[in-house]
Amino acid sequence: MRRGFWGKGICAGKHAIAEYLIQQGFQLLELTSKSHHRITDEPDDDLRLQASDIRKKGDAQVSELVFENADSLLDFATKRWQDRWVTTDIADGLTLDRFLLRPFFLLVSVDAPVSLRWKRFTDRCWRRQLDPPDLEKFVLWNDRHLYDRDIGRVYLTDRAQVRLFNSSSSLEELHQALGILDLADEQRLRPNWDQYFMQLASLAAQRSNCMKRRVGCVLVRERRVISTGYNGTPRHLQNCNEGGCPRCNRGDGGGIGLSTCLCIHAEENALLEAGRERIREGAILYCDTCPCLTCTVKIAQVGISEVVYSQGYNMDKDSAAILEAAGVRLRQFHPPSNGLIYLQGFGEPAKGSGPV
Ligand SMILES: [Zn+2]
Ligand SMILES: [Zn+2]
Ligand SMILES: [Zn+2]
Repeated sequence: MRRGFWGKGICAGKHAIAEYLIQQGFQLLELTSKSHHRITDEPDDDLRLQASDIRKKGDAQVSELVFENADSLLDFATKRWQDRWVTTDIADGLTLDRFLLRPFFLLVSVDAPVSLRWKRFTDRCWRRQLDPPDLEKFVLWNDRHLYDRDIGRVYLTDRAQVRLFNSSSSLEELHQALGILDLADEQRLRPNWDQYFMQLASLAAQRSNCMKRRVGCVLVRERRVISTGYNGTPRHLQNCNEGGCPRCNRGDGGGIGLSTCLCIHAEENALLEAGRERIREGAILYCDTCPCLTCTVKIAQVGISEVVYSQGYNMDKDSAAILEAAGVRLRQFHPPSNGLIYLQGFGEPAKGSGPV
């Protein structure tokens, strides 16, 4: 399994994380082409010095794992897919495109508060008997490093599958946080069936036109999609978000005037689309919201075997009771977090060292 790393800002902790992974049995792969993207006279997060620091600590063979281009690196890694590799040398969009084609590649970005990164950089300078820049100069370097049209990293880190926010104050703390996070979890590379179908339901929800709430639903049997649905007014009627349902557009609280609502729920649409014939024993209904009572009774009637939802609604307990009585399994699926993940001190308040 391969991991790509991007330090979003200077001294965000990219190398520290790569070093941690190397301690965990990963091996470092390097690209020589990154030197083309170096800005002279400015602090580079990809300092060769850093890479050689890592290499010294890793085993001696690691220094041979240097490649001319992304393709030769990927060919090497493809043949050794059972081993674990990490690189910090993806410096441009074209290189990243090559990596992202592969199913064994995970792009991880790491960022940290600028005040903390400046402090780390200053400490690094002192250790090397160099004069550190003042904060303003560091910020200017950093802006260029991130936002420069040609070499800016922010356009690349935005494509990361996992985004880490490294506000750790010590390496020990960072390692502890990384241990809990388990970056090597295979499911980060490839969604399992629950994740896959729930993401399809969320995608369907984006087509919703109901003013009240976006809901999406997918019916599945034997791991095949039977039908999909989202909520909104019936065909040929004006969409709810264009004034089609007076009840939804009045903005009353949830549950009020439900019997005058013209919107068909996502679950209903998916059930109507599939038809009784295709919903047989073993059919699973994935919905990003727990079904309401009127959908629940229909789900029970058509013979759905299991309901999986991700977010609660305001009548979960009643729906659960009906489904249980009808012999339909119900479970909540908690999707893995894919937003910004805080790597921070344990026992400290969450807001302790947030972004500036
Ligand atoms: Zn509506
Ligand atoms: Zn309505
Ligand atoms: Zn419903």
